[in-house]
Amino acid sequence: MKIIAGNWKMNGSRAALDDMIDAISRVATGDVRIALCVPYTMLRAGNAAVMIGAQNVSKFDGGAHTGNVSAAMVRATGAVATLVGHSETRDELHDKNADVSIRAARAIENDLLPIICVGETDTERDAGIGTDVVVRGVRESVPVCATDGGFIIAYEPRWAIGRGITPDMSDIENMHKIIRKTLDDMGFANTPILYGASVTAQNVHDIINIKNVDGVLVGGASLKKQDFIPIIENAK
Ligand code: PEP
Repeated sequence: MKIIAGNWKMNGSRAALDDMIDAISRVATGDVRIALCVPYTMLRAGNAAVMIGAQNVSKFDGGAHTGNVSAAMVRATGAVATLVGHSETRDELHDKNADVSIRAARAIENDLLPIICVGETDTERDAGIGTDVVVRGVRESVPVCATDGGFIIAYEPRWAIGRGITPDMSDIENMHKIIRKTLDDMGFANTPILYGASVTAQNVHDIINIKNVDGVLVGGASLKKQDFIPIIENAK
């Protein structure tokens, strides 16, 4: 089964989310699993077709942490998943892999499915250390409490996110092969790996059929029905 996750970032409204869930419910079939990761203010329960997730959770369980939202609070809305370690939150909150691992642990402890994002910058890629950064990202961001299949890895080359850049299919295949081997070595042979960065209705079919690509994480093209529904349809 393939997974298609949308990341709405700081966009959308509750009405737009209700509308998107309706539209997805009309086209989704049993062979794709859909998730929408939305701003905290829009969190709600999903339905049989759509899982709803947050875009981050606090490292803390509660207390004097102004501006934070705990994993338990997210779960209490009916949401069932969360992104952690997205490149934008890594940048804005100065999160290292160790911080991402704590966030993922809080998610797991509170019955949320973490989608743990890893990826290399263009500087790292050009310096020839892209694969090292990604392997370290996986090894260091997955918490010790993780179980096989109890989390998802999203590989997002940071130089391609939001820029309309699609890497060569062979580059995606190569990185997913390395991530697959890393996860297998860690005892997570059944943990899915998503590809994310500038996925569209035009390129989703080719990307999702690459070996070791278990689904896609979609940013900009997940916001509007006319972009996201064709992605779901073309991925089938
Ligand atoms: C993302 O930010 O997770 C993402 C994949 O963005 P985009 O699809 O817009 O590149």
